[in-house]
Amino acid sequence: MPKDSADGRKYRPQTNLVRGGLDRSHFDELSEAMYLSSSYAYESAEQAQRAFKGEEDHYLYSRYGNPTVTLFEERLGQMEGARICQSTASGMGAMFGSLACMLKAGDRLVASKALFGSCDYVCTVLLPRYGVETVTVASSDLDEWERALSEPTNAVFLESPSNPMTQVLDIPGIADLAHKAGARLIVDNVFATPVFQKPLEFGADIVMYSTTKHIDGQGRTLGGAILTNDEDYYEDYLRMYIRHTGPTLSPFNAWVLTKSLETLDMRVRQQAANATRIADWLLDQKRITKVIFPGHDSHPQADLIRKQMSGPGTMVVFELDGDQARTFKFMNALQVIDISNNLGDAKSMVTHPTTTTHQRMSEEERATLGIHENMVRLSVGLEDPLDLIEDIEQALSA
Ligand SMILES: *Cc1c(COP(=O)(O)O)cnc(C)c1O
Repeated sequence: MPKDSADGRKYRPQTNLVRGGLDRSHFDELSEAMYLSSSYAYESAEQAQRAFKGEEDHYLYSRYGNPTVTLFEERLGQMEGARICQSTASGMGAMFGSLACMLKAGDRLVASKALFGSCDYVCTVLLPRYGVETVTVASSDLDEWERALSEPTNAVFLESPSNPMTQVLDIPGIADLAHKAGARLIVDNVFATPVFQKPLEFGADIVMYSTTKHIDGQGRTLGGAILTNDEDYYEDYLRMYIRHTGPTLSPFNAWVLTKSLETLDMRVRQQAANATRIADWLLDQKRITKVIFPGHDSHPQADLIRKQMSGPGTMVVFELDGDQARTFKFMNALQVIDISNNLGDAKSMVTHPTTTTHQRMSEEERATLGIHENMVRLSVGLEDPLDLIEDIEQALSA
């Protein structure tokens, strides 16, 4: 039951992250209470009738809404500058729901090719099975997007920066083209985080998150969120889709995520500072043949990054001087940094996309995206960056 979060504009963002949506019970608890309740009791049969008719504000059932879940949605909505925030049980619940709630057989979807593996599956395998035509665009060149959007389209889905290559797409440019084609633009903002990029301010209609990543940031819960100021999208599609198909966030996870929001801004900024330090150091290492980091002038879309992002993010991609065996040897020699496919966590993690997150793709598709066997993706956490640098250094000479 998302409420209007517009009053978040009264305070500065960090205050909203600590206090947004707070609604104390009659116990006056200082910290946010957790309401682990699937259902709600009514004073009378008449009250139940009024609640179901929408004449009285009363929770009905936690698939529709729950006070702890509402609290999380209000706080995240204020952070994003979105009046509507609908949480979900995972990032993929948000991604699939954001499209499935509105698309039907015969509709057309344009999606970026550089997507998180499961998002690519939804766009190119699952939705076409339901009769949705999907066209993908691999390039960040706006002319290619213009060509793909030269016919009537219902939805555009993109990720910027992308996983794993941090490809950056022109959000205002693509939003214009999408609107001319009659489509809503949905942006997967997981890599940028709400700290460094606000797609709604650049013309996107809908933003989605896997809250599993930086928003939890400590590897505990799965969750997701869909945020928008488009009342028609919410009222005509999303509200009923969530109510009746049930990808609902649990109140326990909502509580953990609410507490995580209190520290989101400072965690992400510190992780980005650590990532910058490591990315700069990697540039001077002779065993590293390529570094891709949104904070570097050498990033292929450095100009776009300056226009639409206020920070570089927490992910560094680099290539080693060798093949897959050499890359595995490096990863296995790391002593602080974990091998894992999660990201955005306080603990630094390294991933080999070719054999894990992107193994479903053909070698040819991976080559188009620039994903090579000697490439690793590093998610930089909150450890001392000098320990991380020393760990990488010793693993490189292993
Ligand atoms: C992790 C991730 C998702 C999916 O989120 P889950 O919470 O794992 O379901 C979607 N998009 C991106 C960019 C991600 O990193």
